[in-house]
Amino acid sequence: MRLYNTLTRTEETFAPGVDNTVRMYTCGLTVYARGHIGNFRTFVCTDVLRRTLRHLEGYTVRHVMNFTDVDDRTIIGAQKAGMDLRSYTDQYIAAFREDARALGLEPVEENPRATDPDNIAAMGELIDQLEKKGHAYRSDGSIYFKISTMADYGKLAHLDHEGIKPGARVDSDDYVKDDARDFVLWKATSPGEPTWEVVGAPGRPGWHLECSAMALRLLGPSPIDIHTGGVDLIFPHHENEIAQSECATGHQFSRFWFHVEHLIVDEQKMSKSLGNTHIIPEIVKAGFRPSAVRFLLLSAHYRKQLNFTWESLTQAEEAMRRLIDCITRLDGVAAAGSHPDTIARVEEARTAFAAAMRDDLNTAAALGAMFELVRALNSAIDAGQVGTDDLPAIREAFHNFDLVLGILSLRRAEDEQPPIPIEEIERCIDERQAARRRRDFAAADRVRQDLAARGVLLEDSPTGTRWKRK
Ligand code: AMP
Ligand code: ZN
Repeated sequence: MRLYNTLTRTEETFAPGVDNTVRMYTCGLTVYARGHIGNFRTFVCTDVLRRTLRHLEGYTVRHVMNFTDVDDRTIIGAQKAGMDLRSYTDQYIAAFREDARALGLEPVEENPRATDPDNIAAMGELIDQLEKKGHAYRSDGSIYFKISTMADYGKLAHLDHEGIKPGARVDSDDYVKDDARDFVLWKATSPGEPTWEVVGAPGRPGWHLECSAMALRLLGPSPIDIHTGGVDLIFPHHENEIAQSECATGHQFSRFWFHVEHLIVDEQKMSKSLGNTHIIPEIVKAGFRPSAVRFLLLSAHYRKQLNFTWESLTQAEEAMRRLIDCITRLDGVAAAGSHPDTIARVEEARTAFAAAMRDDLNTAAALGAMFELVRALNSAIDAGQVGTDDLPAIREAFHNFDLVLGILSLRRAEDEQPPIPIEEIERCIDERQAARRRRDFAAADRVRQDLAARGVLLEDSPTGTRWKRK
């Protein structure tokens, strides 16, 4: 397949470097807040990359996605909350796992936490290598990476070396491209801050060091195949990961760099600091399903910005319904026979879908191919051109689309879950039955309408009352 590589600024043919296994690292959530749907745009696109590599290309994927559970933001957050760092970050890791499940992310092979002892030890080893090779120096209890010791520093972000100020240092985890400086590998801590000791220096890791250490420890030897994140991570985070890893090992760090463009709101990046974020529980409360969010996040190519509006979420929900309606109609096909024209449409859609995904993960075009098939099948059903012998090939096509997209299976799982607790639905059904028995039909109707407003429809049958999702 073809994949755009930020390192070379070109689309290249992708195949794993060694055997059939893709070794892939994703910079995971900084766990100082619940992840918002901007964060999840990056994670959903990365999940679809993972699924494409597995299910369409047939590779084995060894995928590591970390939790950044120590950095400037987590430490400040824990202090403000009056909690120890571990308990503070635990809550957001639990929330991430809930949202990841709701959005249908395939579990990855490893979810390391930066503060796990093995990872802290790996960070110490990396610093040791860098010091031995003359790429690091100590000052005021902290350890810095000296960017002038790396001739190609700035190759990922295309930094202009003229602008680099030799010798100037920066202690914060995040800063802008115009301010490229010697960055901190290991920070001296103030009293009361979480502290570990490596290479004889009590302190705590800089953000960039964490990912280099975890990627090399769990996916090495380098080069790994693909490193992913949102575009905001290109500089300084990924640039500095390259500097640390390549200077320590002497080998290329990652062959491909895959960056997802931002989810935006009113022309601005969705971000916690701008206060324009939306989180999954809030979206569910507003009556939308996570499967519609997943659909929306895949509706644009990952290298294009995507503007979030409630209107676009409504449209995603409608598109999901068209898809489900078509599949439900297929379930109702009872006439025997097969129709070569219909099977030809299925084959065209499969070819177009695979070509779109292999063309730098063009999910917008792949969804287009799937909906083209939905339209063709609806017309074919209307014209009596779908028979029971056509169904296995049609079902297999949708199954294969969904292995990559992960929206249909997610919707089915949601459909099995009631929108409100099952005990409450049962209590309402009993209440309605009681109202009917005392011939208070107005009260019985009110119960039914209340449930309908909350997304639950009641159906009466000779064997009793059943509920289904609206
Ligand atoms: P953070 O928790 O800030 O480290 O971010 C986790 C991931 O979400 C990173 O890969 C970011 O690049 C990505 N990210 C943050 N905001 C957005 C956004 N608005 N759209 C897409 N990705 C984002
Ligand atoms: Zn990272």
